[in-house]
Amino acid sequence: MGYQVYQVGDRWGGYGVPAVCEHPKCNEEIDRGISYACGGEPFSEYGCDRYFCGEHRVYHCFNVGRGRECVEVCERCAKKRDSFPYKPEHPDWVKHLLTDVSWKKWRKNNSKKVKELADSIK
Ligand SMILES: [Zn+2]
Ligand SMILES: [Zn+2]
Repeated sequence: MGYQVYQVGDRWGGYGVPAVCEHPKCNEEIDRGISYACGGEPFSEYGCDRYFCGEHRVYHCFNVGRGRECVEVCERCAKKRDSFPYKPEHPDWVKHLLTDVSWKKWRKNNSKKVKELADSIK
């Protein structure tokens, strides 16, 4: 078990979750493991809570007080610009949520989200 899959707000994280790089021009298949997270971890103060392939993360050093902290972030975070829009959940992941027996109870309690996800892959 551990951090294979966990829910963060309206989305899911963890290396058990298939995803697409969130650079608008990229369709690289990744997962939501921490190694793909902007800022090097899902809740990094430097990152944007989005996930990118190796091509779209840059090693960037931020000034922190008198020191520097270097992490991998997306190009927007490196320039402190507005984040890229979130991409929709990966269709494989949506299908898993909608059909896998282990998510049966979740589906029962989240009918609105289930409908939203079902619509997203139509
Ligand atoms: Zn970022
Ligand atoms: Zn990419």
